[in-house]
Amino acid sequence: MRPCIRPGFRQRLCCRCIALIRDFLVLPATSDFLKLESKSFNDPIIPSFLPSLAALRAQFIVECLADLKRNLINRGLNLLIQHGKPEEILPSLAKALGAHTVYAQMETCSEELYVERMVSKGLKTVVLSPTSEKSAKPSSARSPTLLLVWGTTMYHIDDLPFDTNSLPDVYTQFRKSVEAKCAIRDCIRLPALLGPPASIDNWGCVPSLDKLELQPPSVVKGMRFIGGESAALSRIYEYFWKKDLLRIYKETRNGMLGPDYSTKFSPWLASGSISPRLIHEEVKRYEKEREANQSTYWVLFELIWRDYFRFLSVKYGNSLFHIGGPRKVESKWSQDKNLFESWRDGRTGYPLIDANMKELSTTGFMSNRGRQIVCSFLVRDMGIDWRMGAEWFETCLLDYDPCSNYGNWTYGAGVGNDPREDRYFSIPKQAQTYDPEGEYVAYWLPQLRMLPKDKRHFPGKMLYMEQVVPLKFGNAARPQSQDYARRKNFGGRQAKDFKR
Ligand SMILES: Cc1cc2nc3c(=O)[nH]c(=O)nc-3n(C[C@H](O)[C@H](O)[C@H](O)COP(=O)(O)OP(=O)(O)OC[C@H]3O[C@@H](n4cnc5c(N)ncnc54)[C@H](O)[C@@H]3O)c2cc1C
Repeated sequence: MRPCIRPGFRQRLCCRCIALIRDFLVLPATSDFLKLESKSFNDPIIPSFLPSLAALRAQFIVECLADLKRNLINRGLNLLIQHGKPEEILPSLAKALGAHTVYAQMETCSEELYVERMVSKGLKTVVLSPTSEKSAKPSSARSPTLLLVWGTTMYHIDDLPFDTNSLPDVYTQFRKSVEAKCAIRDCIRLPALLGPPASIDNWGCVPSLDKLELQPPSVVKGMRFIGGESAALSRIYEYFWKKDLLRIYKETRNGMLGPDYSTKFSPWLASGSISPRLIHEEVKRYEKEREANQSTYWVLFELIWRDYFRFLSVKYGNSLFHIGGPRKVESKWSQDKNLFESWRDGRTGYPLIDANMKELSTTGFMSNRGRQIVCSFLVRDMGIDWRMGAEWFETCLLDYDPCSNYGNWTYGAGVGNDPREDRYFSIPKQAQTYDPEGEYVAYWLPQLRMLPKDKRHFPGKMLYMEQVVPLKFGNAARPQSQDYARRKNFGGRQAKDFKR
């Protein structure tokens, strides 16, 4: 298991699903479908909005399952749903059905690897009788085996031009190398029919939120994500083909407000509802049928970042979760609970931070620009232990993925594998560049709507609330604090230099 930062409380709600395809058992990639946890806090204080966050994530996963079940039934199969631990359920199912192989997607991070090990161990205790074994396997192999298959990335791990232990520590080197030397594999087309399903009496039901003792969430603001492959394919169709937004992705991708500034594919990628290889195929089709430009390429550029973080997790293992990160950087961090909670709950007195944090807890999503800004604020301006921020993201994000989350946080905290990825984002500068009219902050903090646009980012304590910390570099009203930071040799590249 990943080492906890401090002994804290952990509350987990798990709903795991198992799909049975003929005599193969399929364990979906996400081992914990619904997870609420907090490892960083001494006091088990649950913010009042946590139950609705749980409901949001639960709903997304339940929708993924319902869609998968429907799609399998349409292909002559079914989805067997059981509730419990994979290491207990899978061996007993394998035994009951005489399955010789359990297929699962290969994982790379410690908690997920632990589940794999437990499943494998459990399977070894199962002895298949020769009659129950429905395979052509040699009769000496009596226990089912766990067969792990690589997935989730656009480039296949076997196609990399280097061993993952020698993965370049500079993203650009990695990207140039894979682009020059590897091909992205085609998607595998599904046969029209895969049935008949195994003979099972009770296929189980997709759990309702009621059953999970959660209230259905009502997302009245921001993006409402619907789980499952069908919704994911609709989003691809809408973003690429119907609204033609791929054409301008590079210009809009740093936005924060509305559904269309970026693809919003991440929750579906994280849940395995769509694969990056499918997105690659669609980009190529778009380039052939409509237009190829920097924007069409840039979606692939970002997906290569996603790949990179996954491969880094293989290279660096658990150090991704350690305070010093892969480079074992020694820094002093605070774990001040009050400061952390003001960040978490969107009460810092900085509307740009507060609006982003409100969006996260209301919708389970935040833009890439917003994530970089709030990360920088927590670690640079507040000096708070970056792992507390990473854990809060882990609790909230619909697109939570250990590699992308902790990888990005280590970069944001300046402890990542690449020492050059060390960032300070100046709030005045970010506000001026990415929300000049204060539309975004006024959307999430309606009390700012009545203020003149040039006051929305720094309304002052009389009109908004007191700032919990001063900014590290310069007064809030002075965007030129960027230069100050550079002169002071803070060590972080300035936000305006970022290509990402
Ligand atoms: C502190 C921090 C934490 C993050 N945690 C996660 C996480 O848990 N899960 C996650 O999927 N992304 C994470 N990201 C990356 C990024 O913010 C999201 O992938 C992106 O905002 C999702 O929105 P989108 O699908 O519209 O992205 P788009 O801009 O449309 O990009 C297309 C796809 O490229 C990938 N991508 C884009 N940027 C990144 C990036 N920096 N790192 C990795 N992949 C990227 C995503 O799969 C995304 O769906 C994090 C970034 C930061 C700064």
